Amino acid sequence: MSVDLLYRPRRLRLTPALRAMVRETLVQPSQLVYPMFIEEGISEQQPISSMPGIFRYPEKSMDKAVKEARDAGISSLLLFGVSHHKDETGSDSLKPDGLLARMVKRAKDTAPDMTIISDNCFCEYTSHGHCGVIGTDGHVHNDHTLENLALQAYICAQAGADMVAPSAMMDGQIAAIRQRLDAEGYTHTPIMAYASKFASGLYGPFRAAAGCDLKGDRFTYQMDPANAREAQTEAALDEAEGADILMVKPGMFYLDILARLREQTNLPLAAYQVSGEYSMMSYAFQKGVLDEKRVVMESMTALRRAGADIILTYFAPRVARWLKE
Ligand SMILES: [Zn+2]
Repeated sequence: MSVDLLYRPRRLRLTPALRAMVRETLVQPSQLVYPMFIEEGISEQQPISSMPGIFRYPEKSMDKAVKEARDAGISSLLLFGVSHHKDETGSDSLKPDGLLARMVKRAKDTAPDMTIISDNCFCEYTSHGHCGVIGTDGHVHNDHTLENLALQAYICAQAGADMVAPSAMMDGQIAAIRQRLDAEGYTHTPIMAYASKFASGLYGPFRAAAGCDLKGDRFTYQMDPANAREAQTEAALDEAEGADILMVKPGMFYLDILARLREQTNLPLAAYQVSGEYSMMSYAFQKGVLDEKRVVMESMTALRRAGADIILTYFAPRVARWLKE
């Protein structure tokens, strides 16, 4: 090939304007969901030692935290409760006046224009830290948990949740929730399915954040990190059961799963950049090993490029601010 005929990709990299013109992947604040921890019975916000810069906010003054997120440019929140009323079944989350319902209502009242998403699971509300009811065989009982999940999602919709997001990884959970919501008149409430949630070591910092006292592991219900075809099956099941958005969790180690699902489905996809991803990067930023803004934005771009329409991330307020600058 003569040099004159050589295609030169560098020609389109010469100036910032040219690079922007041909940029394939963009990140916008509207695509971000900010996960927030709300604790009952405390008066001061508590720093989470495993997640630098992240706090548990007191239920009493959660309005302030919600407004701060909104002012940063965030339009969607995912709420996690830190419960002081745990029991074997997580019954507090099934009450219309329990922490889960109260915080959803309060967030919605504070910021009616925001999308308030409830994380629907039991691990934050059970004394054993598992994602459902324990059966006589010592494992989480799938179908009993389904009934509870359907009730919990209904309680959240009633409290004002704009979207429910079941994360328990029980078989049939999307169908159970869809049926209950529809029967109660919440046909308009979308479900964001934690469709392929892997049993990952990257959730460690979250457990400290959410005050989860898990004994054992979640290998009997969350997915084996080794399985990609099974992730496609999980996503297909959730779509068939009526999910509106399919999520992959964690994010950065699972970009291949996002890319596969992008080929498989036309539904919107979400990626959850989890606590361990946040903490790994945060400690590197603290040490001056990595440049915070540059690396966080690169991670956002990577998740989007792999196929995520929506990104759940603890960096959300920072990303929204940087995008505004
Ligand atoms: Zn759970």
